[in-house]
Amino acid sequence: MSTAKYIFVTGGVTSSLGKGIIAASLGKLLQARGFKVTIQKFDPYINIDPGTLNPYEHGECYVTSDGAETDLDLGHYERFLNIETSQANNITTGRIYHNVITKERQGEYLGKTVQVVPHITDEIKRNIFLLGESGQYDFVITEIGGSVGDIESLPFIEAVRQVRWDLGANNALVIHLTLIPYLKAAKELKTKPTQHSVKELLAEGIQPDILVCRTEMPLPMELRKKLALFCNVNLNSVIEAIDADTIYDVPMNMKKEKLDERVLAKLKIHTKNEPDLDQWKTFLGKLKNPMDEVTIGLVGKYVSLPDAYKSIAEAFVHAGAENDSKVNIRWISSEEISSESVESILSGLDGVLVAPGFGERGMEGKIEAIRYVRENKIPFFGICLGMQCAVVEFARNVLGLDASSTELNAKTKHPVIDMMEEQKKITIKGGTMRLGSYDCRIKKGSKAHGAYGETLIQERHRHRYEFNNKYLEAMEGAGMKAVGVNPDSGLVEIIELKDHPWFIGVQYHPELRSTVLNPHPLFVKFVGAALSHKRSIS
Ligand code: GLN
Repeated sequence: MSTAKYIFVTGGVTSSLGKGIIAASLGKLLQARGFKVTIQKFDPYINIDPGTLNPYEHGECYVTSDGAETDLDLGHYERFLNIETSQANNITTGRIYHNVITKERQGEYLGKTVQVVPHITDEIKRNIFLLGESGQYDFVITEIGGSVGDIESLPFIEAVRQVRWDLGANNALVIHLTLIPYLKAAKELKTKPTQHSVKELLAEGIQPDILVCRTEMPLPMELRKKLALFCNVNLNSVIEAIDADTIYDVPMNMKKEKLDERVLAKLKIHTKNEPDLDQWKTFLGKLKNPMDEVTIGLVGKYVSLPDAYKSIAEAFVHAGAENDSKVNIRWISSEEISSESVESILSGLDGVLVAPGFGERGMEGKIEAIRYVRENKIPFFGICLGMQCAVVEFARNVLGLDASSTELNAKTKHPVIDMMEEQKKITIKGGTMRLGSYDCRIKKGSKAHGAYGETLIQERHRHRYEFNNKYLEAMEGAGMKAVGVNPDSGLVEIIELKDHPWFIGVQYHPELRSTVLNPHPLFVKFVGAALSHKRSIS
């Protein structure tokens, strides 16, 4: 195939139906047939990117290799397809307007009135085609955020309508994801909200080609017929998306419902290749038949919204399956941890992960948690802020320094974690952190080296503060080793404790690179250490 085909996924009735998972599952099935696939997400909000959003607003901010701060759905795309995404895979209304207004200021519109149609819609179309025109992909799947009927998503829907019209039905299609609610009192599944949602889409100029129907119960044939008739779709293009035990079942469910076959038939693509899902099935087999289990405490600030730590939770799913074990996560609010409460909260856990985060709130609780796991030799994994807290804890309780991170106390006597000089000059917030992939050289003989099996790795970053190398010698002398260092800047990337079964802190975000086919080695080894810890005390 020379030119890319475009598949759009819209949503109706409610939000949170899992458009990202459906898009990723379809992508997986097409990829498993040998096609090259990428997925992009268009978000209708005005922020330029989700980097400045509180995780309670929008869940985790997912960082790509090229340093883009993006929507968490891109994490699903990477985890399912084992591909890398980039800035081009996540576009917001804010970015579209920013681009158009910048062009306007540069006089590029030659005195014309700049309008939503055609200028904003043209900029959206340019971004839709950007990945497809790279020549790297057979399919570009574009997920449109929000629900049909929202004021914000109108320009995106209009751009999709135009692309569908420009390219024709053989080159572009629209999948509409809706909800078929079950009314307990009536004991019935209801199609009316879907009918209305499709009418709304029709009013905006789009006839969906395929309906994917989220439902708690199997969709009976008469309901499928009704949906087909009232929504103008072929009967075999009414796809049931029944609630699944795990998101990783969804590709298999979509295969059973022949979503990929319908897409290929509509886009007139003939292939004899059946999807090769052997590795995926092996993973599912391990996931569903664990031989053991461990409970990991995840200490963080946003624990009441697990989406805030989506990639960490998924990395544990991958690492658990790899260890033939189930990983239970106990979500622990760092603000509840004090020297009095720490024992009752953390004792009995098989491992503790201290999560990334920003700001001073809850940081002392994280430091207290780390003291407890260090002293009690419970496996510990610190990510970004979690690593920084481990450094502060060690400086305070082992070196005996009155130490802190300048994020927690700007006037501390011993800033063992501090901002880099370049960062200090920056006052605007968006996109100003150390972002994206950087090299890290790992010392042979370290636990990290044992996990990676390599001495040069690349991992993704998102932070402003760093290990202060002025304290490196003292820390190393007392047993906290910097076993991973950036070869260009000398910045510390990984710390380990000598006399501890498994105590690792990383300045980067390993969770962002864990996929079904490539579970992250540090998560795999951490779960392994938690299993050993559990077995050693039972
Ligand atoms: N707040 C810390 C920093 O900016 C850690 C960031 C993080 O955990 N992602 O360096």
